[in-house]
Amino acid sequence: MSTVASIKPYLRLSGLEPLVIRPETNFVNIGERTNVTGSKKFARLVRDNQYEEALSVARQQVENGAQVLDVNMDDAMLDGVNAMRTFLNLVQSEPDIARIPIMIDSSKFEIIQAGLECVQGRCIVNSISLKEGEEKFIEQAFICRAFGAAVIVMAFDEVGQADTKQRKVEICHRAYKILVEKVGFAPQDIIFDPNIFAIATGIEEHNNYAVDFIEATSEIKQLMPLAKVSGGVSNVSFSFRGNEHVREAIHSVFLYYAIRAGMDMGIVNAGQLVVYDEIEPTLKQLCEDVILNRNNDDNSATEKLIQFAETVKAKGKVEVKDEAWRNESVEKRLSHSLVNGITDYIEADTEEARLQYPTPLSVIEGPLMDGMGIVGDLFGAGKMFLPQVVKSARVMKKSVAVLTPFIEAEKEARKKNSEAGGTESAGAAKILLATVKGDVHDIGKNIVGVVLGCNGYDIIDLGVMVPADKILDTAQKENAAIIGLSGLITPSLDEMVHIAKEMKRRGMKQPLLIGGATTSRMHTAVKIAPEYQDGVVHVLDASRSVTVAGSLLSNEQKPGFLTGIRSEYVKLKEAFDSKKSIKTYLTYADALRNRVSVDWSQHQTQTPQFTGTKIFEDFDLEVLRAYIDWKPFFITWEMHGNFPEILTDSVVGKEATKLYNDANALLDKIIAEKWLKAKGIIGFWEAASEDDNVYVQNGEEVKLSFLRQQIKKAADQPNISLADFIAAKASGKKDYIGAFAVTIHGIEAHIKRFESNHDDYNKIMLQALADRFAEAFAEALHERTRKEYWGYAKEEALSNEQLIKEQYMGIRPAPGYPACPDHTEKYKLFGLLNATQAVGIQLTESLAMYPASSVCGWYFSHPKSQYFGVGKIQKDQFEDYVKRKGLPLETMERWLSPVLE
Ligand code: SAH
Repeated sequence: MSTVASIKPYLRLSGLEPLVIRPETNFVNIGERTNVTGSKKFARLVRDNQYEEALSVARQQVENGAQVLDVNMDDAMLDGVNAMRTFLNLVQSEPDIARIPIMIDSSKFEIIQAGLECVQGRCIVNSISLKEGEEKFIEQAFICRAFGAAVIVMAFDEVGQADTKQRKVEICHRAYKILVEKVGFAPQDIIFDPNIFAIATGIEEHNNYAVDFIEATSEIKQLMPLAKVSGGVSNVSFSFRGNEHVREAIHSVFLYYAIRAGMDMGIVNAGQLVVYDEIEPTLKQLCEDVILNRNNDDNSATEKLIQFAETVKAKGKVEVKDEAWRNESVEKRLSHSLVNGITDYIEADTEEARLQYPTPLSVIEGPLMDGMGIVGDLFGAGKMFLPQVVKSARVMKKSVAVLTPFIEAEKEARKKNSEAGGTESAGAAKILLATVKGDVHDIGKNIVGVVLGCNGYDIIDLGVMVPADKILDTAQKENAAIIGLSGLITPSLDEMVHIAKEMKRRGMKQPLLIGGATTSRMHTAVKIAPEYQDGVVHVLDASRSVTVAGSLLSNEQKPGFLTGIRSEYVKLKEAFDSKKSIKTYLTYADALRNRVSVDWSQHQTQTPQFTGTKIFEDFDLEVLRAYIDWKPFFITWEMHGNFPEILTDSVVGKEATKLYNDANALLDKIIAEKWLKAKGIIGFWEAASEDDNVYVQNGEEVKLSFLRQQIKKAADQPNISLADFIAAKASGKKDYIGAFAVTIHGIEAHIKRFESNHDDYNKIMLQALADRFAEAFAEALHERTRKEYWGYAKEEALSNEQLIKEQYMGIRPAPGYPACPDHTEKYKLFGLLNATQAVGIQLTESLAMYPASSVCGWYFSHPKSQYFGVGKIQKDQFEDYVKRKGLPLETMERWLSPVLE
């Protein structure tokens, strides 16, 4: 077992992942390019507020092996505090960058402090020193320690910067004593920077600078073995700037000796270190002489190196390996960006291609479609997964956005030139997508749109809650080749049937695609397909939409494809109809008699803490995060499997992990920047049942109506109704029912922003996460209800995994779900809670909830209460139910169509 005493004195740093520097740890590379003083490019990006690209500089450093990221914003033209804050906050939400620790680099302590306030994990402050005296030094050191940071101490005192070996060692030792004895720093958290100065400057006194550093390092490590030594490596070769080839060689040789002397880490361009053994022998020899100040009388070694440098200057920069694709043709670069989802260069590459190609449209039809073709093939072959495809689509959209103005301009010009209006090119086939009237759910539709868009179709997305007329009018006006309908809740199924009938009435010819959570092949075959003869196809998921659209839009394939689907659906319908006839049902009266038997005399329901309602105004998202059920999140992205196993799955594991990291990075941002607001309400009331009605006391009496299973069951199996779990009036026992409604507000502005950025990936991600928050909120409030507000399971102690598996007592059935399939009972639930006013959830005409990320339901506490499906009901129950509810028969026929035969 590990105890406090056994914690080894190692320097322990962390970003999202730990970095422990042990005695056997190799040299630690600190990425230097995110430094405005050292990188002109980075400085320009920050000055121009191009943070997205500035981030890609950081990403490159990590990709090239940087283990710590040095960030420096010391530029006279910048508001350093602000720039540091902005950049670090952005870095924190990029998990592929944030996984490594940050080195906050500034000569201004206020900038350092701003940085300390932003980073997560354990960072390094670079640097503090005795330059302004002990008092200041101690004060700053205390602040660093308070933030838990390690510090770099520069060898600098009141007199100046240490240049000789002796001064370097003395100052470091003095600083060390102060830090350890007065500030309480652990020795291993102290890193010295004994100053690397430029050599080979032509000035004699500079010739020994590298030697001074190397020897000082050796002494510092002997004197203070737990402390570390670091340095800014590129300084040493400063006089060779412009000649990267020579500089890299100097760095490698310098590091070779400095590391042997004990240097632990250094700020370097991680992508540009040549391997010591691979430096050409002549150059290596010259570098060694200069660095070790050998054979250097009258600067002779320096001169030789300068001469050599002249000869290689022409060779230019050595390409960084990972960026080799940047040297390829513009077509290959576009394709690489598309396949790998890289947005960094897409605008520039698109522009380059536009200038090369005859027309802007030919860039789309040529290299872009070729690239997307590869994406499509890889996706189809199962070598790429949905999140990657959506990222590719983001690249595609950004590229198209560059070309669009030029395409528009060309069109205008063409119009002007030909009086007759000219002939429009046929263009890509149009596919119209819409979430039907009354429904607000559109993640699935958005994904299908992206995937089809990737495959070259022109997508017309009408959004959510779209009335049938608008869908069909638009389809006719735009001459859409295919119409795709989406819906999540059961009333949407009926709306789809209605649209199919309308298409027939209008004599339309377009195939109709059906998709969404409650849709099914069976429902499509039985209810929708018979209403429209020109092709109705259920599409299980986005990946399949591509092949379906392909078949429907190919003149050769279409007839055969549709004939196949038709005969399949006819068979399904026959199977369905024949099953119907063999099922036997009880009369409603018999079903009632076969209710769940509960001995109420043996049960006393716990009295809730209150009756009436309780509002949760702005529930802590950080708390909800722990309640997230990730499995449905992955299903949204068409990655099926259990969580967390999916993260290490041999096929999808890598992409699942990336997706999960992206999700968590966005979660960090959502929470830190308060993008969303979780609002919820719960309520409890006295209640008593009478057959399948439950009477709720809320000042006035509210009658809830439930449905009962009517199918003939095996002996001893009850015909269940939720009403069975509430004490019967006749029992004389006091009982309660509860209800809840939760929602996530605030998504719209962010969705808009992502849309205008052509960023479907983050848009869908945000929608999926808002859904997760709503479900997590329902879970969290249900737990509190059981343990506290209703308090019937005070001792419960379940892990999130157990909560997800519903291992608790009681249930929270949702109106519209199988145990209570009548959505219209939501009116009563909302009435009891006053949910629309209290937490701002609107009910659409189909009883979908808006915001889309909302959940509501009843609370039942009885230990026997369980989820079940009502199944199909018979005419006698239906008529009784309609009478109980006092609503017109036709209205209820529509609402209950899923349970009617
Ligand atoms: N952990 C999941 C929970 C959602 S699905 C997630 O994060 O997505 C489970 C919920 O659906 C239940 O809590 C209940 O509200 C509802 N539900 C499931 N089966 C039901 C049924 N047969 N009848 C009524 N509601 C049901």
